[in-house]
Amino acid sequence: MSQQQNYADFHRRSIEDRDAFWNEQAQLIDWKQPFSRVCNYDNPPFARWFEGGLTNLCHNAVDRHLKDRADQNALIFVSTETDVEHVYSFRELHAEVQRMAAILQAQGVSKGDRVLIYMPMIPEAAFAMLACARIGAIHSVVFGGFASHSLASRIEDASPVAIVSADAGSRGGKVVPYKPLLDEAIRLSSHKPAKVVMVDRGLAGFERVEGRDVDYGQARIEHMETVVPCEWVDATHPSYTLYTSGTTGKPKGVQRDTGGYAVALAASMKHIYMGEPGETYFSTSDIGWVVGHSYIIYGPLIGGMATIMYEGLPIRPDAGIWWSLVEKYKVSVMFSAPTAVRVLKKYDSSFIKKYDLSSLKALFLAGEPLDEPTAQWISSELGKPIIDNYWQTETGWPILSLCNGVEKADSKFGSPGKAVYGYNVKLLDDQTGEELKGGNQKGVVAIEGPLPPGCMQTVWQDDDRFVNTYWSSVPGKMVYSTFDWGIRDDDGYYFILGRTDDVINVAGHRLGTREIEESISSHPQIAEVAVVGVADQLKGQVAMAFAVLKDASLLTDEAARLKLEGEVMKIVDGQLGAVARPSRVQFVNVLPKTRSGKLLRRAIQAVCEGRDPGDLTTMDDPAALQQIKDLQA
Ligand code: ATP
Ligand code: MG
Repeated sequence: MSQQQNYADFHRRSIEDRDAFWNEQAQLIDWKQPFSRVCNYDNPPFARWFEGGLTNLCHNAVDRHLKDRADQNALIFVSTETDVEHVYSFRELHAEVQRMAAILQAQGVSKGDRVLIYMPMIPEAAFAMLACARIGAIHSVVFGGFASHSLASRIEDASPVAIVSADAGSRGGKVVPYKPLLDEAIRLSSHKPAKVVMVDRGLAGFERVEGRDVDYGQARIEHMETVVPCEWVDATHPSYTLYTSGTTGKPKGVQRDTGGYAVALAASMKHIYMGEPGETYFSTSDIGWVVGHSYIIYGPLIGGMATIMYEGLPIRPDAGIWWSLVEKYKVSVMFSAPTAVRVLKKYDSSFIKKYDLSSLKALFLAGEPLDEPTAQWISSELGKPIIDNYWQTETGWPILSLCNGVEKADSKFGSPGKAVYGYNVKLLDDQTGEELKGGNQKGVVAIEGPLPPGCMQTVWQDDDRFVNTYWSSVPGKMVYSTFDWGIRDDDGYYFILGRTDDVINVAGHRLGTREIEESISSHPQIAEVAVVGVADQLKGQVAMAFAVLKDASLLTDEAARLKLEGEVMKIVDGQLGAVARPSRVQFVNVLPKTRSGKLLRRAIQAVCEGRDPGDLTTMDDPAALQQIKDLQA
């Protein structure tokens, strides 16, 4: 209780005494020159944090640790795809980053230039990100799973001077060549990068383009000893651009600053993740996503922690692989996604129990709603706090979480906790814009400006889109909309009910897709479910559910299917009432998701309504949507 009371005071201070609060947090990083102003919000909604300060992300992540921890583990690379395991100390990481920085400089890259990174989860990708930060170049990492079309639009948008890439990635033991996709993307794009630095893993042969393609291995040898000092940049200098997942439409290019981001991450290591210097952080994400930027690369390293970079699946060679890494590298903080936990849940829990997990303090999960059955399962298997984090690519670090030494008892399953310090979170009525102050009212989750340090500065090269997309959706107010729909209970815990686009309106009753999904997934046979609202002449909209069974062999015949469908409907009736009952529950093998594991409800909805599903370039498995299409026929 007192812990929670303390946190309430901590949060209040972060809002009411904003500049003093962030001034203190800013002492967690190194500054070449101190800032003269903590927050300039003279031109809302554009916030300029730590103006006048000079710093560097790479210095804070790498160089400043050389004094005390040069020989400590910094980057732990594990690939179950290529059976390679290699540990870099801070000293070694520092050397590799300088070599990469020297190579980029030799290709003409300098401060403010963009460098696009299209790479699998290999150490050179981390070197490239840190090398860009080192020389003040702006990186734009594109997830390695994207094909030419998506890649081309990102090349066009970022107009990079150089691209860093590799011959191939590997997924489930299958080599995925990257170079042909990259060459095709450059062909499709109207912008042509001058140079392409190619890391050759020896997985797939590729054709070199004379005069453009540079061999990393050879260039590295030429620059073994080249010294590249950190370029001190303004706190507001852009460090990178990154695209949102594209779950709801065209991805948006998020632009992040330098100083605010470094401070936000350093503070989050202390107040959210409880990671200490010298410990090991393991985030199972990919560098192509924001979690990978903040919590595979920058956050842990800024915090003086070792970070694990894992290339491979969670179930290969078996479902114990992640936990074996926790034991081996004494991981203290782990970060993953609900979708990955749901995968593990299908396997025997002896895969978890087999390992010594005593080093682990907590497991953080983010990216999509963490349903209660999944949270319960992993919590009881691990016996550790499971902390749901709610945030967005735009914010760069959590908006909702439990903070400051949380205990298992503080978690409420189904809730990502409370507003994180620095975020002035409000629930607003989406029609009137009025603030909903009472408990248990549903509204849009919004953030009053300024956004705290570390959040997006703007949409890359499109200030208007930043203002129009994020700050203009609530009538009469300039607030940042998350476009998520939520509810806050009397204790200040939030529950995310789904995206505002996904709210279903059945005969005047507004329901979050998440509420219905949560209810359906409490059926013991349901592994995963997506609910969408489908236009209906009579009721406006009806809910349709698509569920994956834990054991598909249960669907022996039509009678068995009908029985299951009836059971699911009955559960929803009992928990939420008949208005929320889906008009149909259909069973599928797999649900359509983005490459980052998010349900593509808009695509399912479009297919159900016989519309064109729109931009599907971020979709993982096209067969999943086809199956739903076939069911509608
Ligand atoms: P786009 O903005 O391009 O449509 P996206 O919103 O999926 O894609 P991300 O920034 O990767 O892109 O995802 C952020 C969104 O993910 C949040 O707005 C929210 O809808 C969902 N989300 C993230 N974490 C959680 C969580 N802990 N609980 C519920 N939902 C979450
Ligand atoms: Mg979004």
